[in-house]
Amino acid sequence: MTTNVTTVPAYAAPAANAPLERTTVPRRPVGEHDVLIEIKFSGICHSDIHQARDGWGEGIYPMVPGHEIAGIVTEVGTGVTKHKAGDRVGVGCFVDSCRECEYCLRGLEQYCAKGMIGTYNALDKDGEPTYGGYSTHIVVDENYTLRIPDGIPLDQAAPLLCAGITLYSPLAHWKAGPGKKVAVVGLGGLGHMGVKIAHALGAEVTVLSQSLKKQEDGLRLGADHYYATNDPATFTELAGSFDLIVSTVSAPLDFTAYVGLLRTDGALVNVGAPEEPIALNLFPLMLGRKTLAGSAIGGIAETQEMLDFCAEHGLGAEIELIRADQINEAYERVLASDVRYRFVIDASTI
Ligand code: NAP
Ligand code: ZN
Ligand code: ZN
Repeated sequence: MTTNVTTVPAYAAPAANAPLERTTVPRRPVGEHDVLIEIKFSGICHSDIHQARDGWGEGIYPMVPGHEIAGIVTEVGTGVTKHKAGDRVGVGCFVDSCRECEYCLRGLEQYCAKGMIGTYNALDKDGEPTYGGYSTHIVVDENYTLRIPDGIPLDQAAPLLCAGITLYSPLAHWKAGPGKKVAVVGLGGLGHMGVKIAHALGAEVTVLSQSLKKQEDGLRLGADHYYATNDPATFTELAGSFDLIVSTVSAPLDFTAYVGLLRTDGALVNVGAPEEPIALNLFPLMLGRKTLAGSAIGGIAETQEMLDFCAEHGLGAEIELIRADQINEAYERVLASDVRYRFVIDASTI
């Protein structure tokens, strides 16, 4: 690879709802502050499926999903100081932001007032579409590239770049820790990282899953308790129990019922991104001064903090490594809640 790189192999959705297929996409030449990354592994996030199928609207096609990228730096621009060839690096959900609004200056680039530039399904500052991690190489500004600590294998590190930070950020913000009762709703890609991280932070962790099918896994991952939400008795038994509930559910959920599980002053934080709105009875929120909030991924500094935290605590994602020609099948399994607990694409098969 040289600075003349123009096209690289990738898997793309040619149109909304069309299966992903092998193609090539352009990558910009390595600029002064850019790094060229040879992608080794790319996680499959449920957000990839929402977007590839245009569930959130305004999709840009062809679309190369993938915002859980782990790889090795192969080339750096002349002005790069943070990374060098051979470094283990990651790229998450965004590859740029305005860099000057109050949120960017506070390290909250994900809430950039002008909008972060998504790793895919977005337009870059040069007006060209961005293409994500289901690909062999990517060129990213050094300031939006993370360091992956040596202690985390690259394949297990990839999902941390979205699933890991999406749970770490609200758990840290709402102070999950010793003495706090935390529930994670949905034991999928995000949820399983939520259980691991909340446990490592010292909280008492409960999984609220649709059924007890994954109970053994949940307890092994660090949960203290596990309940099935398809059993109405769960909502009676756990009423008023939790300081913090994080919902990772990808479909509309009866949030009124979950607000009922909070203690007074507790918070229900939604990170799931369903394609349809929800209805909510506001009374249970008022009666108990409860908070209903949302949270999206995390800023660059916090993502680095999360990677360092995971290395320190020996945390990585539980993954099922797949070939690129299995992506469409993996999507169906994610939609069926049949993922244990993140599919990761071996980029050498692209
Ligand atoms: P996932 O692996 O599919 O996990 C979602 C889990 O939710 C499933 O495993 C399932 O867990 C549960 N679930 C699914 N359908 C359900 C239903 N109808 N009722 C109740 N529970 C249901 O997906 P993911 O990659 O973790 O992503 C989850 C959601 O978060 C997606 O909508 C994604 O777009 C969004 N997301 C948001 C952010 C952010 O920054 N806020 C970042 C990444 C992803 P059980 O089988 O245990 O019930
Ligand atoms: Zn994601
Ligand atoms: Zn900004």
